[in-house]
Amino acid sequence: ASQSPLWKRVVVKLSGEALQGGQTHGLDGATVDRIAADLVSAAELGAEIAVVVGGGNFFRGIQGADKGIERARADSIGMLATVMNALAMEHAIEKLGQSARALSAVAMPSLCQPYSRQAALHHLAKGRIVMLAGGTGNPFFTTDTGAALRGAELSCDAIMKATQVDGIYTADPKKDPTATRYDRLTHDEAIAKNLAVMDTAAFALARENRIPIIVFSIAEAGAIRAALEGKGRATHVLP
Ligand code: UDP
Repeated sequence: ASQSPLWKRVVVKLSGEALQGGQTHGLDGATVDRIAADLVSAAELGAEIAVVVGGGNFFRGIQGADKGIERARADSIGMLATVMNALAMEHAIEKLGQSARALSAVAMPSLCQPYSRQAALHHLAKGRIVMLAGGTGNPFFTTDTGAALRGAELSCDAIMKATQVDGIYTADPKKDPTATRYDRLTHDEAIAKNLAVMDTAAFALARENRIPIIVFSIAEAGAIRAALEGKGRATHVLP
């Protein structure tokens, strides 16, 4: 228990899909609880944790646009989806006795506090896990970019990108059995090789602000804490 986190303050990017478990959409209670417990355990390690949560388990703007909803409006629906996830996670974390606060980039003060940098920093300093909803608060962006943006403005030491795969591969490991995983990469290499694990805007922000990106799989219990301790498989994207 004398372990300490590799990074003191982190932003964890959690996709909406990570919360749906074996379901086709929505929230799977057991999965939400498992990830909440993982975040609590990561906080117990001494890390300050902000979580940018996606909404793809409910709605993605691009899918709405494909069905004829104007993109900006579809993105509003997508941002609302992230708020649902943030509220579910906030509750699951608090059930475990760990203080958490959902902050939304899209103001809806009757549901949670509107996001501000000052409020987020205040809650982090108090040891609360901060759930960041609404992505950047603007259409035409993703929650990956939201994670990079919050990572920069909250002076995070790393962006921890939880995915379905255990790192960045030379090719899609689900399609190409010869694909190999990188242990380390630079931001420049990841961008030059077009290794699309986060969108380009997110990568560019992280590169510009020299923030490491840790890509790891959320499939197993305790994955976030393990990644914070440098255990388990991951790709470290370093400046
Ligand atoms: N979204 C947005 N602006 C943002 C972040 C998200 O408009 O800054 C919308 C967008 O429609 C996106 C949806 O919210 O498709 C859900 O976010 P995302 O697709 O990043 O979720 P994830 O794939 O991580 O579950």
